[in-house]
Amino acid sequence: MQTSVLIHYGELALKGGNRSHFEVQLVKNIAVAIHPIGKNTIRRLSGRIWIEFEKAQDVESIKNRLRMVFGIASIAPAVRCEPTMEEIERLVLSLVPQYTFASFAVRAKRGEKTLPFSSQDVNQRIGAAVKIKTDKAVNLEQPELEIGIELLEQHAFIICERIPGPGGLPVGTAGKVACLLSGGIDSPVAAYRMMKRGCVPIFIHFSSIPYTNRASIEKVKDFVDHLAVGIPGAKLVIVPFGEIQQQIVRSVEEKYRVLMYRRMMLRISEAIARREGALALVTGEALSQVASQTLSNLAAIEKVVSMPVLRPLVGMDKQEIVDEAKKIGTFATACEPHQDCCSFLMPKHPATFSSVEELDRVEATLDISHLMHLSLQDLQ
Ligand code: ATP
Ligand code: MG
Repeated sequence: MQTSVLIHYGELALKGGNRSHFEVQLVKNIAVAIHPIGKNTIRRLSGRIWIEFEKAQDVESIKNRLRMVFGIASIAPAVRCEPTMEEIERLVLSLVPQYTFASFAVRAKRGEKTLPFSSQDVNQRIGAAVKIKTDKAVNLEQPELEIGIELLEQHAFIICERIPGPGGLPVGTAGKVACLLSGGIDSPVAAYRMMKRGCVPIFIHFSSIPYTNRASIEKVKDFVDHLAVGIPGAKLVIVPFGEIQQQIVRSVEEKYRVLMYRRMMLRISEAIARREGALALVTGEALSQVASQTLSNLAAIEKVVSMPVLRPLVGMDKQEIVDEAKKIGTFATACEPHQDCCSFLMPKHPATFSSVEELDRVEATLDISHLMHLSLQDLQ
């Protein structure tokens, strides 16, 4: 019966002069997300977005697809009618038999002050009508069925179910970032967090094929398919890294190798980010989670780039990251076995407290621009 969905947005509403820009982007992202489902119309309506579609049975697929659209605070399947008391009553009474409940509450909200009745009038009249028809109890604190009625100038929407959206801001409102994506647990969560703040991601994966197998590439493709569904401009760049690692292994003392790999990854990522118009690099590093992520190592590694390196997970415990990976649906893939380009050449005891000068000295034996060229020459 429901052929409308009302979308409410949270933080968006606070954005003052920018609000319209955020709303327009959100409408675009919603259109892309639900496009495969069939014909629909999407309109902005007094601080909400109204989606109207043809087939009532599509409501489930629409709900599912909207769960991944950032900027949405709540998703409410709705039925629309004229904003008159008679129409509202008729519609509510025809809807309630679909639900099983022992108690209910009617909560009307009037967006337009031009209507000839107040929200309290609607609560009283519709509440009384439902009570007579169903003989169920009114419970304003903890009702089993909440009947929401949103009153606008030309429309009334009846809402009996509200699903929380993912929150955040619409992707596309915060510029592009280059996300360094390994096959592990952390980096997909870091990318998700930046997308949730409105960034379009360019995903970069360093692969050491033929020294490793293809598993990590398949994993990152899975992540990208899952995370970036319907995000215009999102893409994955696979960077050949095997030769660089071989050269580092040949000329760098074991304990510094991972730090050298990380410096090279950042340099190459910065070059790709510039080509793609991205403004920052994103990693899944968390402070002191592993030896290469001590504060002094993070500082000594990032010194080689001038773009900001964003680390959305920096203050999180591993368990918190694992929980979030489960929630966003990347954990299972991350746990599949793969040969990480860094772990297969991992030193037993990486340097834990390096300094910029120390790493600069170690790097002096490497031909950095040649190594960069090795990786970048074949990328489009
Ligand atoms: P993850 O679970 O994201 O792999 P981690 O705890 O295993 O993180 P590291 O392997 O030290 O930590 O990697 C730190 C960060 O460096 C990763 O979160 C990721 O952003 C980046 N990184 C590491 N390896 C790669 C790779 N092969 N390709 C792209 N980025 C990588
Ligand atoms: Mg890793």
